[in-house]
Amino acid sequence: MTRQLWFDLRETLRQAETTIAGPDAGPTGEPQEPWLVVDTAGGRLWFTPVNAPRPRSATVTAVHDDGPQPSRPWPPYRQPLTEPGPDDTSLLDRLHAAAREGHRWLVIDSTMPPQLHTAAVYDTATVPATATWTPAYLAAGELGPYPGEIAAGYQYDGSVIARFRLEAVERIAADAHARTWPGQTADLLVRRGYGNRTEVFMAHAAGSIDTSTPWQPEAGDETLGMRRVTVDTDGWYVLVDDLWMWRQVDPPMVQTRPGHGHAPEQDMFEPDGPYGSRCTVCGATGYDIADRTLPSMAGYGSDTTTWCRICRSSESHLQEIGRVSRRATWPPSLDA
Ligand SMILES: [Zn+2]
Repeated sequence: MTRQLWFDLRETLRQAETTIAGPDAGPTGEPQEPWLVVDTAGGRLWFTPVNAPRPRSATVTAVHDDGPQPSRPWPPYRQPLTEPGPDDTSLLDRLHAAAREGHRWLVIDSTMPPQLHTAAVYDTATVPATATWTPAYLAAGELGPYPGEIAAGYQYDGSVIARFRLEAVERIAADAHARTWPGQTADLLVRRGYGNRTEVFMAHAAGSIDTSTPWQPEAGDETLGMRRVTVDTDGWYVLVDDLWMWRQVDPPMVQTRPGHGHAPEQDMFEPDGPYGSRCTVCGATGYDIADRTLPSMAGYGSDTTTWCRICRSSESHLQEIGRVSRRATWPPSLDA
């Protein structure tokens, strides 16, 4: 197995841009060609002007370091950042394109020379404390949607990693219980209160359970599998389990079309700096705002769509119809 270093792609790009735009231009005032430097042994990377040890960007440390550790020190590996390669794109171009597509990771296989690629998600059941959580509507099987948060850039066995407030956990527990049929094995969420302390269990309960009353985890021999869910210090319950495969679903939308009696509405996206835009519904910026241009269904011209990866609001300009916008009901709530 090859050792793999997983770096936060957005943080990596921020450091790359800082190095390119920073006051590190050479004596002639010309910006120097920046290089990516990878210290595979130390699990770190940084950017630096060519052949100069300093000044350089801040160091980015690998969030995940998988596989066998190196048995001997390897020299740092250097690669041009902005020089076009054989396919006319530079490493920076490729990293930008991947981030715009929603990828969250720069993955470096520590072969010699190291192989660089990008990935959308890292698969794990336990996300690190550094993970970025973003609001989302979530569903599991027939249940949902419920308001919660997902760990950006993570999945567990194909399921997003979701966490919920106690209020949502109680709703999920009630819904799961209500859909339990007598005599059938059921996946349940169980809440037990001890004064001001609450315990939540994810249970796989046998068909003999009595569904007329709230099921209790004490019924040992009726339990095929049970796991305690611990609440974190901020009051979130992370519900990660093979039996609860969460998926992100579209929020309820307020759809409006020009010419259908609606007053002209404000733009869904507003400028944010010289190149970026900001979602006016949830406030997301940067790589959370995505664009797509496709040949029009009308047979001429093109259709463009801008959408927000966080709240999923979107605005399209279609040759045939004109402007179509979909505004998410936001923030996620139990009553939406
Ligand atoms: Zn948004």
